[in-house]
Amino acid sequence: VNILAIESSCDDTSAAVIADGKVLSNVIAGQAVHEQYGGVVPELASRAHQENIVPVVDLALKKANMQLADLSAVAFTQSPGLIGSLLVGSCFAKSMALALDVPLIGVHHMQAHVLANFIDDPQPQFPCLCLTVSGGHTQIVLCESPLKMTVIGETMDDAAGEAFDKSAKLLGLPYPGGPLVDKHARDGNPDRFRFPEPQIPGLNFSFSGLKTAILYFLQENRAKQADFVEANIADICASIQLRIVTILMNKLVKASKETGISEICIAGGVSANSGLRKALETYGAQHNWNVYIPKFEYCTDNAAMIAMTAHYKYLAGEFSPLDTVPTARAAFSAI
Ligand code: ATP
Ligand code: FE
Repeated sequence: VNILAIESSCDDTSAAVIADGKVLSNVIAGQAVHEQYGGVVPELASRAHQENIVPVVDLALKKANMQLADLSAVAFTQSPGLIGSLLVGSCFAKSMALALDVPLIGVHHMQAHVLANFIDDPQPQFPCLCLTVSGGHTQIVLCESPLKMTVIGETMDDAAGEAFDKSAKLLGLPYPGGPLVDKHARDGNPDRFRFPEPQIPGLNFSFSGLKTAILYFLQENRAKQADFVEANIADICASIQLRIVTILMNKLVKASKETGISEICIAGGVSANSGLRKALETYGAQHNWNVYIPKFEYCTDNAAMIAMTAHYKYLAGEFSPLDTVPTARAAFSAI
């Protein structure tokens, strides 16, 4: 079974080929056009996808040493994402499936982030828990099988990636600031400044209070010392990172206790964070978890994870009609 998968939910155009569950290629074209605006501009993202999609798909097929005639199905990201971006990938995938007369497979982007953990060995055993931390989502997902997943906790406001990016912005760092906070944090003392941990019931998260706390903290200290941020950047970043990571890990511990599950994986762009990766190892050792972290190129947006999900859907006979439509938001079960 050979599947071509296309991912175009946000600002990366990606195509991958998977053969019998093995990823043969994963091509990703980023979009530099957004940098000058300090965030993704949806209209410009759609146009860049339109420009990139043909060369990206061509390259993915070439790298996999695959011809169009070898394909058994075409998969695409159906939801969630920017609607204009999703439309480019879905129209392309539909046209290709129609032309080749092969099945079409719509994939849920957040389910795919979780299944990035199943691309390489060792793979988590079912049931497992996944902490998905990305630019737009923060979820704890209970996975009973590749296609049976339930969100048991999620953010009520900002995502973890947003918390990193908004904190970075307050510190005057360029977008996306998450990786820069991580970089500065490596040289800092995480116990120097204490930011509050919100008391949110159950397994849900909240990060908007942290942003406000940081804003007031910076205003107060800058009034006393004009170069406060510049002089203390490492300690500030380390302290912010520790708070975000602790909020995430405390809920993950709670989820593991409540479900009795100790197969624990993480997914999404924030799983690149060195503090979170380290915390997963230490908490894992403490609580006897088996922990899994996908390779970095499978953490941020990529078509390999869409291909992996499509592989499971193909085996289960879950195909999409040609008149299916992408949507900006959807539950796992709706796709
Ligand atoms: P979604 O899947 O929810 O639609 P997305 O796919 O756009 O969102 P990702 O690409 O998975 O998001 O992740 C991007 C986020 O990860 C950004 O907020 C970025 O700052 C954050 N990020 C990436 N690397 C790091 C790091 N080392 N430390 C902290 N945050 C990071
Ligand atoms: Fe994503």
